[in-house]
Formats: sequence, structure tokens, C-alpha cells
Amino acid sequence: MARQDGIPRTLTLEIVTPTRMVVRDEVEEVVAPGSEGYFGVLGGHLPFMSTLKIGELAYRKNGRWRYLAVSWGYVEVRPDTVIVLADVAERAEDIDVARAERARGRAVELLGRREDETVDVARSEGALTKALTRIEVAGKT
Ligand code: ATP
Repeated sequence: MARQDGIPRTLTLEIVTPTRMVVRDEVEEVVAPGSEGYFGVLGGHLPFMSTLKIGELAYRKNGRWRYLAVSWGYVEVRPDTVIVLADVAERAEDIDVARAERARGRAVELLGRREDETVDVARSEGALTKALTRIEVAGKT
């Protein structure tokens, strides 16, 4: 929808993973975890692209904020559209907290043995960040 000055007032947000369309909605604002840091987008934003890191993606619709956990991917911003292509994306209400707690426990256990050369430290750190993000986002339902 456009304002009288022609600047789009809302954004079409699409969040897609390799297996499904997680969100397709008209929204007022998006805040995404860019690899250089979190950024916010309103309607009429100049086009740009960014890579995504593991983190929380929030969007505002009818004044209410909704949250997802996302990890890795790309965001394409246009004045009236935000397209997120992510490796994984889960709405806060769909997150299995017990599973995330188990993933956190495994990652912490592995990182406790980081001197062991069989432990892939970077991968374990990524798993820990993912698990902590899921737990935090799930708390926002
Ligand atoms: P786990 O070690 O528990 O499998 P993971 O971080 O290795 O977690 P991913 O590879 O990121 O899992 O995701 C695989 C699939 O499982 C994706 O579809 C993802 O959305 C889903 N998934 C993983 N963890 C959770 C969770 N805690 N709640 C809901 N969906 C999850």
C-alpha cells in the first residue's frame, strides 16, 4: 500500500527456506540479523542486499511484533518488499524448546572439550548460538 507521496507504507515480507515458505505477509517493519549487525527496514527503503547470521528476525504487523529464529542466508530489500532466503527459519510458537535445550547441552559439552582435536569448535559454537537463539525467541510467544 502506498502513501500519498508514493512511498510504500507497508512491505511484503517473504521468508523462505529450502523446504518451505515460512512467512508471506504484509508488514509495517522488519528487523533482521545481518552479518554486519541487526538492521531495520520500513516501507520505501533503498534497495540493498545483506547476508544473514544466526539470530532473531522480528516483524511488526498491525502494531504487534512477531519473532522467528533464523540462521544463515540472504535478505533482499526493495522499497515495497523484503525477501529472506534462510537455511532455517522457525516462528517462535513452532520452536521445540526441549530440543533446543538438548542441542545447547551437546554444544556446551563439546566446547568443554575444545582442546580435543576431534571437536569442531566453530561448528559447536554455531550450534550453541542457534540453540540459545531458539530458546530466547521461543520465550517471546
Ligand atoms: P538439532 O541438533 O536439534 O537437530 P540443529 O540446529 O542441528 O538442531 P538444524 O539443522 O538447524 O537443526 O535444523 C533442521 C530442521 O529442524 C530445520 O527444519 C529446523 O527448522 C528444525 N529444528 C531444529 N531445531 C528445532 C527446534 N528446537 N524447534 C523447532 N524446529 C527445529
